[in-house]
Amino acid sequence: MARRKKLYEGKAKVLYEGPEPGTIVQYFKDDATAFNAEKKDVIDGKGVLNNRLSEFFMTGLTQIGVPNHFIKRLNMREQLVRAAEIVPLEVIVRNYAAGSMAKRLGLEEGTRLPRPIVEFSYKDDALGDPLVPEEYIIAFGWASQQDMDDIVAMALRVNDFMSGTMFGVGIKLIDFKIEFGRVYEGDFPRLIVADEISPDSCRLWDIESGQKLDKDVFRHDLGNLNDAYTEVARRLGVLPSNVTHAPTKPTLIN
Ligand code: UDP
Repeated sequence: MARRKKLYEGKAKVLYEGPEPGTIVQYFKDDATAFNAEKKDVIDGKGVLNNRLSEFFMTGLTQIGVPNHFIKRLNMREQLVRAAEIVPLEVIVRNYAAGSMAKRLGLEEGTRLPRPIVEFSYKDDALGDPLVPEEYIIAFGWASQQDMDDIVAMALRVNDFMSGTMFGVGIKLIDFKIEFGRVYEGDFPRLIVADEISPDSCRLWDIESGQKLDKDVFRHDLGNLNDAYTEVARRLGVLPSNVTHAPTKPTLIN
């Protein structure tokens, strides 16, 4: 393969220059990190599953008219995406209390929230991605008021899509994190969903058993992470083609 220019290497992905201007090749690694990279491991095959799952969710968003960076999958671990200027925010949508919110407010994990709640963390590993109010975001110029209105509206549409899709396969969407990027069409900037959507950045609980099917399995040593992600992929009918021991169609939940 021709040598490609590496643009950025993060905890779970590597970005390479794409074949056309304005494109990027996103490579999904097998590395898993948690607690701001204090806990690390390599989980064979995780990147393959996340490449497929992110493709599945982004393609679904395109179908309902939520703009996002996904162009096409290139191979088992790589997808072609639109280059975007990343807004330095982690946009978190919560349907049920868990993780840092449960801790902060002393709520039991799994408590249903009165309505979906959108919150923002400033993306800065050295600071541990601190939670920030919209006031900070606008005052420091990370995004404008108009951007924030668009981001909240899109995040809620992503939440509706993801919640419904997961509900259809017997999984409750507790919360998730997405990121947004700016692309330019002529002189006009537009926000799109970027980065990835996968069980690395969602909390997914089986509706019947409450079993966790997301990165909390790794964070809290609850079992085999790949088994959890494979179960999500299997239910959604998006298993990679080299996995032959499981059905390739969605499984009906009784
Ligand atoms: N999340 C993420 N990356 C981060 C922080 C959080 O993808 O750097 C996701 C996390 O998987 C969960 C949601 O955002 O689905 C809310 O996470 P929370 O604020 O509860 O933080 P955590 O307890 O996971 O550190």
